[in-house]
Amino acid sequence: IENQTIAAPVAAGEPGSLPASDALVQIRRVRKSFGAHQVLRDVSLEVPAGTVTVLLGPSGSGKSTLLRCVNHLETIDGGRIIVDGELIGYRQSGHRIHEMTPKQIAKQRRGIGMVFQKFNLFPHMTALENVVEAPVGVVGRARPLARQRAMDLLARVGLEDFAGHYPAQLSGGQQQRVAIARALAMDPKLMLFDEPTSALDPELVGDVLDVMRELARDGMTMIVVTHEIGFARSVADQVVFMDGGVVVEAGSPAEVIDAPQRQRTRNFLESVM
Ligand code: ADP
Ligand code: MG
Repeated sequence: IENQTIAAPVAAGEPGSLPASDALVQIRRVRKSFGAHQVLRDVSLEVPAGTVTVLLGPSGSGKSTLLRCVNHLETIDGGRIIVDGELIGYRQSGHRIHEMTPKQIAKQRRGIGMVFQKFNLFPHMTALENVVEAPVGVVGRARPLARQRAMDLLARVGLEDFAGHYPAQLSGGQQQRVAIARALAMDPKLMLFDEPTSALDPELVGDVLDVMRELARDGMTMIVVTHEIGFARSVADQVVFMDGGVVVEAGSPAEVIDAPQRQRTRNFLESVM
């Protein structure tokens, strides 16, 4: 791989190295451009295992791109992303860094669940079949076991009575909860949510947030892009405010939401609260 794509991981103590960290997610000086447009400008953040980070920021600030870089939907131009001790997209052997093979990438992606604004369920499959599909079709789990586990997951998101329903027979909120169950079926070590309630009617938002709150309580590591400030305040361990491709400020909800230090953060919060 070309050296300019990613700097070799720096040994501890080497000049320019970052402090060692055992955070589950380590995003370090990540850069990403689309053509001449630099969308991520040296973004760094860490997410310790078992914690929830809420990403806030105006439209176009780079939040989705950052999540997509973590989940291999985009490649980064510089910096590095480490999840559970592994570089995203790259393998190290000795001092050399190699791009991962598609098979290695697929394996790494399976450890990271992602839930989008649009639920993207398979319309011709029931809720249960949607949840069973990847464990059976992608990693070859035995179907009876996968079905049992899928039923447990549907119960966990409050949909045990809707296993046989098709997406078109479910509300948006119910579809989103199936999408969460489907992501959980692969036993991810990290869950990414990109505005999971933005496409929902207001009265359906609460049930989805409750499922996410429950997931956080059970110890799932999560990065959540949302404008739901109440959720951020009550669930986030860390709130990160992004604008123009940079992290403007990060801290606890009490710090970033209730006592923002930067004018840009205050302006944004006023616009959404
Ligand atoms: P956010 O999620 O914070 O609204 P995005 O990460 O979606 O922001 O987008 C950040 C910027 O990158 C925007 O200006 C957007 O238009 C641009 N962008 C995102 N994806 C692409 C792409 N595939 N090609 C070109 N520009 C893109
Ligand atoms: Mg977005």
